[in-house]
Amino acid sequence: MHELAITQNMFDIVLKKAEQVHAKKVTKINLVIGEMTGVVSDSVQFYLDFMTKDTIAEGAVVSIKMVPAQARCRNCNRTFEMQEYDWTCPNCQGNIIDVIAGKELFVESIEVD
Ligand SMILES: [Zn+2]
Repeated sequence: MHELAITQNMFDIVLKKAEQVHAKKVTKINLVIGEMTGVVSDSVQFYLDFMTKDTIAEGAVVSIKMVPAQARCRNCNRTFEMQEYDWTCPNCQGNIIDVIAGKELFVESIEVD
């Protein structure tokens, strides 16, 4: 259900953007999803296929860019990719970190005719 609400929200943005440029057709939808959001790209794709039916975005290609979870260690300032259940700095074993990537969830751009 998580993905349904998120996809609906993103699709609203797509339609709004398309309207702003007076598009006749949306040909491509580019999305960015961070790993940490827990959003499953296949589900987003599935819901979009469903939602775009009978709209100007019907048949649009959906491109989803997944962003890996990244953190910066507060102790040694090193940036590293976080593993799922291990948020320890690989350099100094510190565990006070700032998440710097992986929470993205937005419509990057759309392509229209
Ligand atoms: Zn460190």
